[in-house]
Amino acid sequence: MMLPTAWREELWTFGGVLALLWLVGLLTGLAAWLLPGGVVVYLLWHLYHLRLLIRWLDRSSRRLPFSTPGIWGYVYYRLEVRRRKASRGKKQIGRLLKEFKTSTRALPDATVVLNREFHIQWLNKAATTLLGVRKTDAGQPVTNLIRHPDLRHYLDAGKFDQPLQLQLQSGGDTRLSIKVVAYGQQQYLLLARDVTEQHRIELMRRDFIANASHELRTPLSVLQGSIEQLEAGIGGNPELENPLARMKRQSQRMMSILQDLLTLARLESRYEAEQLQSVSLSALVAEVMEEARAASEHRGGHHFHLDVAEPIQVRGQQEDLYAAVSNLVMNAVRYTPAGGDIAVTLKLVPGGVRFQVVDTGVGILPQHLVRLTERFYRVDVGRSREAGGTGLGLSIVKHVLERYDSSLEISSRPGAGSTFAFTLAEKFMEEAGLHAADGSRKVS
Ligand code: ADP
Repeated sequence: MMLPTAWREELWTFGGVLALLWLVGLLTGLAAWLLPGGVVVYLLWHLYHLRLLIRWLDRSSRRLPFSTPGIWGYVYYRLEVRRRKASRGKKQIGRLLKEFKTSTRALPDATVVLNREFHIQWLNKAATTLLGVRKTDAGQPVTNLIRHPDLRHYLDAGKFDQPLQLQLQSGGDTRLSIKVVAYGQQQYLLLARDVTEQHRIELMRRDFIANASHELRTPLSVLQGSIEQLEAGIGGNPELENPLARMKRQSQRMMSILQDLLTLARLESRYEAEQLQSVSLSALVAEVMEEARAASEHRGGHHFHLDVAEPIQVRGQQEDLYAAVSNLVMNAVRYTPAGGDIAVTLKLVPGGVRFQVVDTGVGILPQHLVRLTERFYRVDVGRSREAGGTGLGLSIVKHVLERYDSSLEISSRPGAGSTFAFTLAEKFMEEAGLHAADGSRKVS
């Protein structure tokens, strides 16, 4: 092993001094005194520097004598280099912290640093304006100062992938979007943004669509009634029959679009916790299947395979769940050529209940899959219109499922068919449904 240079030099010096003292001792006959005397002086010198070092470490001495010759000079020099490095690092961290504080102070969004128990550690100016929290509140639980049950649940749940929308009870109409980001060793950054204006615009958009759809429905119903009257009155006039049939088809299409728009507006507007009912999913699927069989007959017929475990009872909204199930089954009928297979399954799975529709229809190219639930997105506009689609069906399904913390799963192969499925979590299931759904019925 190579010895460090300073250490080697020290050994040489020590050896050299001993040799010199021995030589002088030989010449003078005082070797017995000179050698131990030299060792004692050498030891005292080290003890003296050890004391200096301890004082420096205890911070009672500020400067180290770097110019000391030998190994101590080297030790002091290395310590000083380290000290300067640490001090530079400290200054840099201090500067960064200052910059961070200055920039977060200037942020229009409230920024609050929380510890693992969600106690306030630090906050910026906007936090005082937006949340009413003050610097003197540091150390207190954030939920004691922003008193809202939703915030408490949000923090307790610890799922911060989606922001929380909060209407402050004390803040009039102020609506906040709160995001929590975990960082470091279980520390959290709570960011709150005033989204009152965005929310107002969103409400206006929603209300406009709902009102326009509502207003258009009445005149359209009148038109539909008049078309029917005309149809009855033309008495087999071929010149009028065709245009009237076209008018009837188009007015029916418009009515379907308006109804779907109204359903979407209804799904979007109910923010409050609504009254949930007990819904028999098994009965609901059976009802949808009747509708599907009737529609299928008009299109030349399909082979239906039904595998429904019953009874499966969930807590939810009959109307919404019907819309979701019906849209998925009716799409299978629409996009599967006559004679194709449509398999509908409702069964208990670990963690909930799963609904699935598998068809042997036209299928969908992979690039369309992510956009299917967008409003008015269709893979083939012509085919959708011809089949009586509105382009809003899957968007409705998505909105319904969001209410049940679920999402639509889609897989498809062009030309081979598609699978649309969703799972409702156990928390939406009724006890009776959980235990009794042991049987399943297969119908072909
Ligand atoms: P539409 O009323 O046009 O059916 P949807 O929102 O229900 O609107 O569906 C969007 C698009 O997704 C449809 O236009 C169609 O191209 C495609 N799609 C939906 N379901 C199926 C399916 N089972 N097989 C093939 N394509 C489908």
